[in-house]
This record gives sequence, C-alpha cells and structure tokens, in this order.
Amino acid sequence: MRIVMLGAPGSGKGTQAKKLMHDKGISHISTGDMLRSAVEEGTQLGLEARDVMESGKLVSDNLMIGLIKECLSSKELENGFILDGFPRTTKQAIDLKDLLEGMNMPLDSALLMDVDFEILMKRLVGRRTCSVTGKLLNIYLSSPEELAECENLGGELIKREDDNEGTIRNRLDVYKEKTEPLISYYENENLLKRVNAEGSMEEVYKGLLAAIQTNA
Ligand code: AMP
Repeated sequence: MRIVMLGAPGSGKGTQAKKLMHDKGISHISTGDMLRSAVEEGTQLGLEARDVMESGKLVSDNLMIGLIKECLSSKELENGFILDGFPRTTKQAIDLKDLLEGMNMPLDSALLMDVDFEILMKRLVGRRTCSVTGKLLNIYLSSPEELAECENLGGELIKREDDNEGTIRNRLDVYKEKTEPLISYYENENLLKRVNAEGSMEEVYKGLLAAIQTNA
C-alpha cells in the first residue's frame, strides 16, 4: 500500500494517516511533523523552515525533495507507506514519481480528502493538542467531556504556531494556488481517489478504506 494523501490544511490528512498506519502497519511520513521537529530541535533545516512555516507559505521544493529522498531511503518501507503533506507542488509530485520509480515502488493511490471551506476554517481555528495526552482536540467540535478530560489531567490545550487566522488564510490560499493542481495531475496518472472527509473520524476512515480498495 503506497499512498499519497492530498487535501487542504484541516482536511484531516494527519489524523486519518495515523489511523491507517496503526491499522495496516505501514510507515507514516509527515513532512509537516518532520519540519516541526527540526524547528524544535533548532537544526539547520529548522532554522531555514521556521519563518516560512509561520507565515503559512511553502518551504522550497529543493529543500523538501532533499528531505523526502533522505527519509524514503532510511525507512522500512516493505509494508508500504503513506505520505502526508507531500507532495504539495507539481514539481514535488514529478520528482516523487521519478524517485519512487527508481526504487521500484510506484504509488497505488492519491487520496483526496474532500472538505467544504467553512468546515476547514472551523477545524483549523479551533484545533488544539492536549499537553498531557497529546490528543488532538477542537474547542468547537470536541465534546465537553473530551475537553474537560485534558483540564482534569492538569493539561493545557496547545495551539499550533501556524493555526492563527491570518496564517490559516495564507495556508488555504497557498493550497489553492500550489497544491490543488495536483488533483488533475493525479487524475491524469489514474491514481486519484476522492474521500468525503466531512463526517466523523470513523465515517471518514470507512470511506477512506473503501476508496483504497477501488480502482482509480
Ligand atoms: P502541515 O503540517 O502538513 O500542514 O505542514 C506545516 C507547514 O510545513 C506547511 O504550511 C509548510 O510551510 C511546511 N510544509 C510541509 N510539507 C511541505 C511540503 N511538501 N512542501 C513545502 N512546505 C511544506
């Protein structure tokens, strides 16, 4: 199972990718998580990426392609992998195709997580992580019990640096301009599968599993 997850920020790519990783035992590769760790550790990559990420823009293709090359060559990929947040530009998609063909591991599917714009805004503006459990929560969408659980454990609800309204707008604009063209790119490659990503986590996951099993 070799999958690329496509979708706007807030479409639930990360959440669904992690679930798939646990269920199927495949590698989950999130370029956003890799960059955030690099920023936290203060590495050269982190220093180069930090300001770009905070503004909601994209890190350069060269940097990202180097990063993904290194990652794909150093991981166990026999059971498959799910790429979350890469590719984000047509150049990244073309280079990824070459790279994977060279490794004899072409993609099976490009899953598009389809969500309405208003829902995306709510998900992104309200997104928090519990500092104790690491659980992803949302101040508008999580149940009062879930939110209280974090507080009762003495945790704080942490907001991602780039989840403020200005940056969110930028990230959605950048998605439209740079990443949305990948939908037709993967349609032409006969790899695109659409997943309705507006329901609950479980409903979306069900749709995602069904989509993976269909031929594009
Ligand atoms: P994410 O967690 O996937 O939303 O990524 C957070 C931020 O990391 C993005 O807004 C970009 O600044 C950067 N980033 C992650 N993946 C890529 C990529 N494939 N190309 C360029 N920038 C990326």
